[in-house]
Amino acid sequence: MKTTVSYLTEAVHKREPHQVITANPIMVMAALENPSYMEIMKSAELVVPDGTGVVWAAEYCQEPVAERVAGFDLLHELLHQGESYNWRVYLLGSTPEVIRETASRLQTRYPGIVIAGYHDGYFGPAEDEHIVGGILEAKPDLLFVARGADSQEPWIAKYKARLQIPVMMGVGGSFDVISGKSRRAPVAFQKLRAEWLYRLLKEPTRYKRMLALPKFAVKVVREKDKVTKEQ
Ligand code: UDP
Repeated sequence: MKTTVSYLTEAVHKREPHQVITANPIMVMAALENPSYMEIMKSAELVVPDGTGVVWAAEYCQEPVAERVAGFDLLHELLHQGESYNWRVYLLGSTPEVIRETASRLQTRYPGIVIAGYHDGYFGPAEDEHIVGGILEAKPDLLFVARGADSQEPWIAKYKARLQIPVMMGVGGSFDVISGKSRRAPVAFQKLRAEWLYRLLKEPTRYKRMLALPKFAVKVVREKDKVTKEQ
């Protein structure tokens, strides 16, 4: 986390655009099944291990990562860091009420940052031009996009060359949690590395996409076996 924050601080200072992807097993499986999603993940300037499954896979394949870098925590760390430099932040996604409340709560919690603008996430491709124009006018250092993993990452990838923002990151359901609309998994679940289980219990309709988790585990074990046999 510390290394990620200092790396991205450098990116802001040098004005180097970065699409930051917080990878979890569902996204990795989506990439394996969908070449255009794979291309997006490969062309991201930074991918951090968000899901505990990804951290486990890295360990299992003997290429361990230092620790999990959860998108929700990274968002807060970056805002905290940004206070020293009065970074400008643009928030895009979730419903109009959620985004308004999120902007207000973040401004109160991090008075040193500038909320340069925000917009809800319920718009179609026809409105993209207008939204991109609004973001460019706001001149943000950080852009957080909360529209669900299957649309936020492709959206950032499509517009990153025009946006040229040092940190452009998809943050999934984070605004729902910040605004108080939903709750992050209790610490006990986090410690047990079972935030996914908490979300499944709260939102059982998520089970379909969670079927990717056992598939991911099997894939990791198989790939590792293959590599070991080849050596
Ligand atoms: N969302 C949005 N526009 C949409 C669909 C979803 O802004 O067209 C928002 C939604 O309000 C929520 C966030 O995207 O705040 C994340 O949704 P979800 O938890 O379903 O995403 P995932 O878990 O797939 O990242």
